[in-house]
Amino acid sequence: MRAIQIQQHGGPEVLQAADMPSPQPGPGQVLVDVAASGVNYIDTYQRSGLYPIPVPFVPGLEGAGRIVAMGEGVTGLSTGDRVGWAAAAGSYAEQAIVDAARAIPVPDGVADDVAAAVFLQGLTAHYLATSTYPVQQGDSVLVHAAAGGVGLLLTQIVKLRGGRVIATVSTDEKAELARAAGADEVIRYDQVDFSAETRRLTAGRGVPAVFDGVGRTTFDGSLATLRPRGIMVLYGAASGPVPPVDPQRLNSGGSLFLTRPSLVHYTGTREELLARAGDLFGWIEAGKLDVRIGGRYPLADARRAHEDLEGRRSTGKLLLVP
Ligand code: NDP
Repeated sequence: MRAIQIQQHGGPEVLQAADMPSPQPGPGQVLVDVAASGVNYIDTYQRSGLYPIPVPFVPGLEGAGRIVAMGEGVTGLSTGDRVGWAAAAGSYAEQAIVDAARAIPVPDGVADDVAAAVFLQGLTAHYLATSTYPVQQGDSVLVHAAAGGVGLLLTQIVKLRGGRVIATVSTDEKAELARAAGADEVIRYDQVDFSAETRRLTAGRGVPAVFDGVGRTTFDGSLATLRPRGIMVLYGAASGPVPPVDPQRLNSGGSLFLTRPSLVHYTGTREELLARAGDLFGWIEAGKLDVRIGGRYPLADARRAHEDLEGRRSTGKLLLVP
């Protein structure tokens, strides 16, 4: 099979197509013909070595496709079933091994590319808005990079829960996308002090929650945007990691909360994984959640996909199509 292999950590150029033997499913695993693989920011952290993974490895965690072989002891799934996943290492490939416990059956009404596009970022947006900070009717929350993969989904889910979204983006085109996803206010944070503007938009009060996947460049401003006892949800580092934080800043900011959540801890059981996925599928089938696929690339062009993602040229989801 064809796959992308990383022989050494580095920039997008280390993503090289290679011929590899088809993997064999072990006990509790299934082998899937991949219809589409999702590109995620975490793939860039693993590629660069920020999140260390021993080389060589096949990157990618997400995808959707059809089961073609079963390992021993798998129950509840069959050859021919369509499944998706958000946590199967080696997904930038024509075939991938998925733990049956992490394989999510895809309903007939959801196409393969939509399924591959919604798992990692959609499950993330779901847990952020429903569990990390359960958005309440009328809450104003700040969503950074709202035209990105997580951002567009998070904006829509906050709106589904009756919240008000104050969004940040870096271009006019992204502003339009954020508005189309339901954002009530859109701030060009490349031009305007987003913290001061958010305070103005909330009559000086600040917001009860900031969803920040940008990290280094927004972290201080995000803390300054919270109202007393607000929660800073730092869920990523697209602009780079945040330096160590003095807890005293949470005091002076107004008894703030800081959390650094991860999808794995919010999908710890199969029940929780399937319940979150079930909500996403239900919204998609009801036309309430639009999964925007901002770019499709041949598998061999993984390098270009990473360049576009890290270059801030992407919107919504990027997919690799074998
Ligand atoms: P996005 O599609 O959101 O792409 C990143 C966006 O961040 C860019 O489009 C850009 O939007 C913004 N950005 C701001 N500064 C920079 C910069 N210096 N370099 C690059 N981008 C910048 O990516 P994803 O949806 O895949 O991921 C978003 C974040 O969510 C990432 O930090 C990722 O690690 C995190 N994540 C966390 C998870 C968790 O469970 N903790 C799970 C999934 C994702 P703009 O141009 O508008 O500024």
